[in-house]
Amino acid sequence: MDKLGKWDINNDPECVFCKTSPETSAHLFWDCFFTTQLWLRVFRWLQVPIPTNVHLQQWFFRATKGNSKRAKLLKQVCTDTLYSFWTERSTRIFDKMQRAPEELVKEMACIFIVRATGDLRSYLLGLVFSFNFFDESLLVLLTVIVVGLVWSS
Ligand SMILES: [Zn+2]
Repeated sequence: MDKLGKWDINNDPECVFCKTSPETSAHLFWDCFFTTQLWLRVFRWLQVPIPTNVHLQQWFFRATKGNSKRAKLLKQVCTDTLYSFWTERSTRIFDKMQRAPEELVKEMACIFIVRATGDLRSYLLGLVFSFNFFDESLLVLLTVIVVGLVWSS
């Protein structure tokens, strides 16, 4: 595979989200104010309290250790969240389009639910209905997707 295509090499060394810091993976995924506010929204939605006095990434690596339900939930959410950040980054660089954090976090929640299985999916779906998080059109779309998944499995 073409290495350049595979790694999405960006010649602009500046972070595509905040345009104030050099783009390192640590910055892009954990330290940038854009991605940090998305993490905080995701954790708020998941009803997972995070301490304010520790570094987000360090807290996260501790919280995902082991096989507890919460650790499993956070591991899946972490993978999907990092992937969403990367996709948004590529869209901004290559398609010159960008989405607002509110839009992005709703899409991320849909991805979490669609990719989750079993208990985890039930838990995430429960959050959708317990929180006034989704607007109606998105809720309809999500219901269609979930019914489709259940039906096809
Ligand atoms: Zn940044």
